[in-house]
Amino acid sequence: MSVRGPRVAIVGCGLGGIAAAVNLKRRGIYDFVIFEQSDGPGGTWWDNRYPGCEVDIPSHAYSFSFLTYDWSRTHARQEELQAYAQHALDKFKLRRHCRFGTRVESATWDEEAGSYEVALGDGSRERFEVVISCLGLLNYPRYPDWPGLSSFEGAAFHTARWEHEHDLTGKRVAVVGTGSTATQVVPAIASSVSQLYVFQRQPGWVLPKGERDFTPRERALYRRFPLLQKAWRLYHFYQFRQGFKGYDLGGERQRRNLLACRAYIEKTIADPEVRKHLTPDYPWGCKRSVLATDFYPALNRDNVELVPHAVTKVTPNGIVDETGVEREIDVLVMATGFQATNFLASLEVRGVGGVSIHDRWDGDAAAFLGITVPDFPNFFMLYGPNTNGGFSVIANLERQAEVAARTVARMRRRRVRAVDTKPAALDRWVRWVDAQLHKNASAMEANCTNYYHSKSGRNVTQWPKPHGEYYLLSKVLPYFGFTERGSR
Ligand code: NAP
Repeated sequence: MSVRGPRVAIVGCGLGGIAAAVNLKRRGIYDFVIFEQSDGPGGTWWDNRYPGCEVDIPSHAYSFSFLTYDWSRTHARQEELQAYAQHALDKFKLRRHCRFGTRVESATWDEEAGSYEVALGDGSRERFEVVISCLGLLNYPRYPDWPGLSSFEGAAFHTARWEHEHDLTGKRVAVVGTGSTATQVVPAIASSVSQLYVFQRQPGWVLPKGERDFTPRERALYRRFPLLQKAWRLYHFYQFRQGFKGYDLGGERQRRNLLACRAYIEKTIADPEVRKHLTPDYPWGCKRSVLATDFYPALNRDNVELVPHAVTKVTPNGIVDETGVEREIDVLVMATGFQATNFLASLEVRGVGGVSIHDRWDGDAAAFLGITVPDFPNFFMLYGPNTNGGFSVIANLERQAEVAARTVARMRRRRVRAVDTKPAALDRWVRWVDAQLHKNASAMEANCTNYYHSKSGRNVTQWPKPHGEYYLLSKVLPYFGFTERGSR
């Protein structure tokens, strides 16, 4: 290890990678590289460029606490979020640390050297004492395994890999899925395509988002008084906290949310048959609830048909649902989500004794604070297991970046070689998280399909509380859960 301090590899230049870099710099750690496989920053906001792509958390809350911005809308669109990532790189002078178009394949711990050997996509290898994975949770597309998919003669693509070269004007298009992504795509393309089929396997609970452009006066005010933005941010967190009881399985607040969604269906959907198909039969909050203002109105259009069935097969010219009906289409859009439970899907991490993190997890990912795993010293994850939720993910990413950067700074200060996680700390953490999630609307007992559960049935993605609890725990628990060994 160099005298100046640990050399750090940050994997991913999304908002998590940026938070990690800013936090390292704040603590005087400058020897780090941000690897990014894409050609620019933004992570999910670089990958997801589908029509209608827009955040569903208020912009002032979906931004860093340390970087205010002249947001143009209450809920920023993809282009603006990507521009925010660019702005952050400039503001914090991070560009010289970035290596775009460079994929990290693996990180292998070398006990003797006290460092990771990091293998890059071009076949080269580099040494880093610390690795911070900022790969995100919803980054590895879930492609369906429908028979016949490869024989389809039209264009077929996943929403996270939108192929903009295909002009959809006047085309017959199928959108498969009705999650947060599909409900943005459908209204965005409905008026230009000739026919749109929306395949729904299980409906979600939907409410309008309330998005709009900020007025010039509002923008001027926010620019002039950045503290106002911070105040709004806090207010949004407070509001979310007030509404969190909605996730209590069987609770009154949950019932009220459900009634509001039902009333919204009644008010917005013209056809009683479609209303029936859009009404879920499971508790509110079991699936990730959808905020979409234009989705239901789009379903009222003459050229849009809601097909309330799963897709089972694809033919060269069409798509077949579970009832056996085939519909001819020109373009197939898979809004089928991500392999959320498959943590670190694109990164092979090996720890003490060469053990692979995926073998250790065996499909059931778990990490102390969602950040560290015993026997994987000096390895940190942002947006790891059980850290999805609690309102704005940006706030969680900041907490995780702080834990990683604080630990690295401490390693440098105390000349420590390796920081590892106590197995007992992870066990206690998992038991506590599981107990909390048992009372949560996303529990298996609520009986919906969601992307939260591993094959064993454990909820491995969700954080069970508002952000404040994570804030406190991330400040305190590292003092008890980490061990230090060796000196340099
Ligand atoms: P998702 O919520 O996992 O939805 C995938 C959809 O595809 C579901 O409706 C699913 O049906 C359907 N599906 C999968 N296989 C199918 C099949 N064989 N036949 C028919 N339907 C099938 O994925 P997503 O919409 O991409 O959203 C993922 C997450 O990304 C969200 O929960 C949210 O956290 C985030 N997101 C956020 C925003 C934002 O504005 N901030 C926007 C987009 C996404 P089932 O429901 O039956 O499984």
